[in-house]
Amino acid sequence: MVLEIHGSMGEGGGQVLRTSLAVSLLTGVAIRIVKVRQGRPKPGLARQHLTALRAAQAVGRARVEGDFVGSRQVTFDPGSVEGGEYVFDVETAGSSTLVFQTVLLPLLLRAKRPSTLVFRGGTHNPMAPPFHFLQQVFVPHLRSLGAKVELHFKNYGLYPRGGGEFHARIEPCAGLSALELLERGPLLAHEGHFIVAGLDVRIAEREAQAYASFWEHTRVQAEHAGATGPGNVAMASLLFDRGSELITLFGARGISAEQVASNLATEAQAFIDSAVPVGEHLADQLLLPMLFGAGGSFRTCPLSRHSRTQIELLHQLTGKTIEVEQARATAKVCVPSL
Ligand code: AMP
Repeated sequence: MVLEIHGSMGEGGGQVLRTSLAVSLLTGVAIRIVKVRQGRPKPGLARQHLTALRAAQAVGRARVEGDFVGSRQVTFDPGSVEGGEYVFDVETAGSSTLVFQTVLLPLLLRAKRPSTLVFRGGTHNPMAPPFHFLQQVFVPHLRSLGAKVELHFKNYGLYPRGGGEFHARIEPCAGLSALELLERGPLLAHEGHFIVAGLDVRIAEREAQAYASFWEHTRVQAEHAGATGPGNVAMASLLFDRGSELITLFGARGISAEQVASNLATEAQAFIDSAVPVGEHLADQLLLPMLFGAGGSFRTCPLSRHSRTQIELLHQLTGKTIEVEQARATAKVCVPSL
């Protein structure tokens, strides 16, 4: 049996491909993705998606067709998921964190021995989870469900030069526990982190100083990211009693350092005011581990197109229905267990 998925569904991005690969490895069911990334300006596989496909192929001993840059159709027939030592290199500034997310769950829930992995490529990309989001938000949430995952940051990779690297250790576990995350409790810590690469470090220092002026109890940090970029990343990390969020913005030509800091502060304030424990991006990323774990529920902001696409896709891939109760400015998401 080969399950056919339309890469054009919903958001029509790389998430449809990566989630389908992960689910295929978890269920052992072969998939064919047609119209890969049809919803994007440059459809088909880019380097990042090809690396994710090759990574899924390597950990799952899969037979693959259509594995080349620009490919619009991919067939993936998985074998057994094997833990071990792997190096996955995007070779451009394409996101390496999305490659990590493709193989994480299969290595966690289906491998028989631990894995140590090296990921190379972009570590802080627009439209993808920055490494710090994995480290401070996504992985801690998985750990709270019983996952044993360690991440080690080596160096930054920013567009257009890339060259970033991080390492992961994933220890298989028998299953994940249920997640119940409807309230988040008080804000315990709030930090601003400003990074430049290939630009004057004073830009990051000005951002840090401006950010600190918006809040009373905020630690700020300015950092030079070495030989990548040129680029500028601004991150606000919010730690609550239960849960965390990391908001990321990218500096751009024509936007002053003070304006970057001010935009970040506005977004951080909006998340604080929303009172939800799960942010927009974490919401779409939690659905897969919850479905293949023991399910549960969480409260988040109104669902993004990525989340709605993921809900529809997981239904097509597994037959399970994720329920959404939409309230005024929040949504309660209830995920069954497979
Ligand atoms: P796609 O656009 O289909 O390749 O999927 C992109 C993935 O990256 C989705 O899971 C998004 O939620 C995630 N993502 C995009 N931007 C961020 C961000 N700033 N922080 C965390 N995750 C992000």
